[in-house]
Amino acid sequence: MSATTNSIVTNALFGGQFRLQDFAGIMTSATLLAGLPRFTARYSKPFVNGMAEAGYNSLRGALSGTVTGGMRAASSHNIKYLWQGMAGGAASGLARSALMDIVFGLPQNREIFTQNTNNEILYRSGGLGKFFFPESGHGLTMGYNLYVADLNNTQSLEHEFGHYVQVNDPHYDYGASRFYVPILYQYLRYGINKSPLEQNINDYYEHYIKFHLQQ
Ligand SMILES: [Zn+2]
Repeated sequence: MSATTNSIVTNALFGGQFRLQDFAGIMTSATLLAGLPRFTARYSKPFVNGMAEAGYNSLRGALSGTVTGGMRAASSHNIKYLWQGMAGGAASGLARSALMDIVFGLPQNREIFTQNTNNEILYRSGGLGKFFFPESGHGLTMGYNLYVADLNNTQSLEHEFGHYVQVNDPHYDYGASRFYVPILYQYLRYGINKSPLEQNINDYYEHYIKFHLQQ
């Protein structure tokens, strides 16, 4: 949860201690952040998307940190926590974007459907990821971020999109925690390719096409 990270980064930067009361601020700013629109990779140049995302996330972080810091400032009657929260949140948002870019490459848009209605997905390729996932078919899904070794490999884009549906489509109700833990367990138990969540991946992909695109 980014609101928690912002708070931890702020404490690390300014030498503050994490207090139980801070949870109220974190929950408030997390609720606030959840209501804001997500960043979309709407530019054609990956670098422009990367810069725009970094700016967007540092603004979000500043907003979130201002809420958390503001509540702490009010309870301790010290305005410095508000400014520290704002600066720490901005730095944290910027750092998280930069880290994603370095590890998984810059965010891009890919129209893998003829009628692409899903703008929230950030396709990534390159970065340090290319050392861990060198083959064309390799990929990794992290929430809204779809990493593929080769952005021109349609099969691989569709496969990762299937995982995106498993994690994010309310119809399946997996959510992140009920997806990542089971799939890791299945990898260990059955092997990566024999994992049930990998076997029927096309069903998820086709569910999305049927219920989200053809209406
Ligand atoms: Zn897979």
